[in-house]
Amino acid sequence: MISPAVAIVGAGPAGCYAADQIARKLPGARIDVFDRLPTPFGLVRGGVAPDHQGTKNIVRQFERTFQKPAVRFLGNVEIGRDLDVAELAANYDAVIAASGALEDRALDIPGEDLPGVVGSGRFVAWYNGIPGAADLSPLLRARSVAVIGNGNVALDIVRLLGKDRAALEATDMARPALEAFAASPVTDLWLVGRRGPAQASFTSAELAELGELPRVSIRLDAAGLPPEPPPGLDEAAARTVARNLEILRGFAALPDAGLPVRLHLLFHAMPVAVTGTAGAERLVLAPGPEGPRGRSPGNPFEIPADLVVTAIGYRSRPIPGLPFDDSRGIIANEGGRVAPGIFATGWCRRGPQGVIPANRADAIGVADQVVAELAASPGEGRPGPGAIDALLHARGVETVGFPGWKRIDAAESARAIGRPREKFIHVADLLSVANGT
Ligand SMILES: Cc1cc2nc3c(=O)[nH]c(=O)nc-3n(C[C@H](O)[C@H](O)[C@H](O)COP(=O)(O)OP(=O)(O)OC[C@H]3O[C@@H](n4cnc5c(N)ncnc54)[C@H](O)[C@@H]3O)c2cc1C
Repeated sequence: MISPAVAIVGAGPAGCYAADQIARKLPGARIDVFDRLPTPFGLVRGGVAPDHQGTKNIVRQFERTFQKPAVRFLGNVEIGRDLDVAELAANYDAVIAASGALEDRALDIPGEDLPGVVGSGRFVAWYNGIPGAADLSPLLRARSVAVIGNGNVALDIVRLLGKDRAALEATDMARPALEAFAASPVTDLWLVGRRGPAQASFTSAELAELGELPRVSIRLDAAGLPPEPPPGLDEAAARTVARNLEILRGFAALPDAGLPVRLHLLFHAMPVAVTGTAGAERLVLAPGPEGPRGRSPGNPFEIPADLVVTAIGYRSRPIPGLPFDDSRGIIANEGGRVAPGIFATGWCRRGPQGVIPANRADAIGVADQVVAELAASPGEGRPGPGAIDALLHARGVETVGFPGWKRIDAAESARAIGRPREKFIHVADLLSVANGT
């Protein structure tokens, strides 16, 4: 059998886990992992909070995959821009989309288009130094910031906004964002959840971290906290909710220490509009059915918000040539199968839920389908890497291989003083460090 060639679109966790599994199960297969960015690892570099460096250690495992001779990284190649799906399908025996969920879900409320309203995808990409994320520094002139959402991404954002320069310098936050955060005049942070504290999808460790911010005092009305988790949860979920409620009760009991930043936790508050003249000034909220005591349900109230960050989920970006399920915001697939010879895995397959390790089982399941299919009908062996390299060369696409990424990695570490890394945030700089161009 001629060694099969497999293309993977996206070098995030799902793409890396899939490449690893195929390399294990099909020794001799040639596996090309493309990414639109010159750097690998998807949201591990561009999403995970810059003050959670431990979480990023997973990249050591992914790097071992790229060190296998069968696996290549081809950074700075966007499928749909530099190559199309038909070209991949013509040159590889199987194609796996692992392109994540890059787009912010819309709130669908009036005022959402005002300057000063931004999705967490864009905001997080900016502070993590993803090339192409617009310069959002002016937004951090805000004094009152509302973060809408009750998941860990919302926690990341309020926690980082609560940190001082010294704490931020210990992270790998991109330099322009760090300067903007450090100079931020913020006095009020609002963490706004549409549902109740028992429905929030915070993990307990991340929630507890809010209580460890030296310049932040937390405001929370204890009366709105249920005494125990609602019935009907499975054991693990009930344990997490009980622990979260305990942490929140602890927050509510804290005395007002008069610290420079107040963090208000609001639950059962449904965003209905953003208002302001030249930009966001206020967020209008309607209390939910179980609104906090003292507010009559349905009676809207306002909070000041000259920056509103929405952290309410993501959608995949369609890739021309692949079917798209618009209602779910994912690449249309059945159990990972998209079309003959084409598969999907990770967030673009199942939507933006699940932490990094959750993509492992997903990717292994899909990779095993690919392996079984290739074993059943080996085909004639498509041209694979050689033909694709020629196409990219002819189009003048400057790719970054794994050695190029290691040069970026080394240069970012070398220029970081007292920090984990000092990121390069422009494509031209990344290419020049990677390839010496
Ligand atoms: C803000 C945030 C913080 C998070 N923090 C944590 C955390 O602390 N711990 C944890 O376990 N999980 C965390 N997660 C979840 C975790 O990041 C995801 O589970 C995981 O990254 C999903 O993997 P993926 O490979 O499907 O997608 P991604 O990681 O998004 O990877 C997709 C890759 O595809 C590339 N791509 C997209 N389109 C194309 C194209 N057309 N051509 C070529 N390449 C393309 C992208 O550039 C990207 O590199 C966080 C998520 C977010 C959004």
